[in-house]
Amino acid sequence: MTPMRTLYLDMNGFFASVEQQVQPRLRGRPVGITALETGPHNNWAGGVVAASYEAKDAGVKGIISVREARSICPEIIFIQARHKLYARANQAIARAIDRIAEVEYIRSIDEIQVGLGGPTSELPAALDLARQIKQVIRNDVGQYMRCSIGIGPNQLLAKIAGKLEKPDGLQWLAPENMPDRIAHLQLDDLPGISRRMKERLFKAHVWTIEDLHALDPRHARMIWRSVEGERFVRGLQGENIPLLETSRSGYGQSKVLAPEYRNPVSACKVGRWLTERAVARMRRDGFCAGYFSVYISRFNQRGFKRSRTLTRSQDTRVFMGLFDELSRPFSQGHTHAVSVSVQLGKLIPLDERPGELFQPLEAGKANRSEKLSTVVDHLNRRYGRKVIQHGVQQEHLGFFDRG
Ligand SMILES: [Mg+2]
Repeated sequence: MTPMRTLYLDMNGFFASVEQQVQPRLRGRPVGITALETGPHNNWAGGVVAASYEAKDAGVKGIISVREARSICPEIIFIQARHKLYARANQAIARAIDRIAEVEYIRSIDEIQVGLGGPTSELPAALDLARQIKQVIRNDVGQYMRCSIGIGPNQLLAKIAGKLEKPDGLQWLAPENMPDRIAHLQLDDLPGISRRMKERLFKAHVWTIEDLHALDPRHARMIWRSVEGERFVRGLQGENIPLLETSRSGYGQSKVLAPEYRNPVSACKVGRWLTERAVARMRRDGFCAGYFSVYISRFNQRGFKRSRTLTRSQDTRVFMGLFDELSRPFSQGHTHAVSVSVQLGKLIPLDERPGELFQPLEAGKANRSEKLSTVVDHLNRRYGRKVIQHGVQQEHLGFFDRG
């Protein structure tokens, strides 16, 4: 049997479960978590960003307006989102898992990746560990905290396995049951396959998961027009390939801002935080970027957009400096931001980067500053939070992810 390397944990209805855990009156009832703002006359103006399973069963799915949610499910109880509470629950879950397993990455507020190896690389032991993790979360964090767990020989298969069964799922994927086990899915059900990519696959006569799985990885590279296609298909086939964040050709981070962070100075602090996250993710996957862009959307006017081409780098300091420089006209102005996005592009693997005569850059190697950034990543990842950060920034946790 193929050795298992990754366990992927996805909390079920996370925000609503946390609320049901801390507020017993909500248990067993349909709950909708709403965005921060209230409109005039104290009506909920925002959307429902998360729902309890009771609400989902009643048909409240996806991000919909409060009014729509109420018409679908009249008895729904709305709760205003509480970012800090969910971030604390995320930390408590990571700590609980850490007692019995190796937390590798905290992927998002409700997704955690655990490394498998040694005895747990065998499927029965990995499944056993998954059951223990579910138990330790219930014991340490609360009975209402359920999760779906996927196990696989790489991150891609573990993540897909984690999405197969909800709530409280436990599934595995490996060459031994692939592609049959997921043959019923659509191509764009897979993480990293957008609707646009699906159309491109259709044009190349790749219609089903089976077709995709059987694809020559070099052919996939052509369809994707990037090495990512090759990585994706090799991942599906069970090779030990680390997962890339998205199907795009870059690393992006984006946030719709909570009202208190919309002034120019705070918005740019959130931008710095996003920049640091994007660069850390890119570095983790072994890439460097030769392009950086900043986009800040505004009320009732065109967005603020700046970009720059640079010598390929994976150094946080370089990109923080670039962010400051590019965003300066905005941060010194008076208009408010609605959302902030940063994007890293023109990626190549670090080990393919040529050396530079006039810069401290050895071909294929990280320079000193980049190595330091990597050490910081390890510390922050290990502790699942910012132990060390690069300069002034504003963390903005929660559901306002766009990237
Ligand atoms: Mg989830």
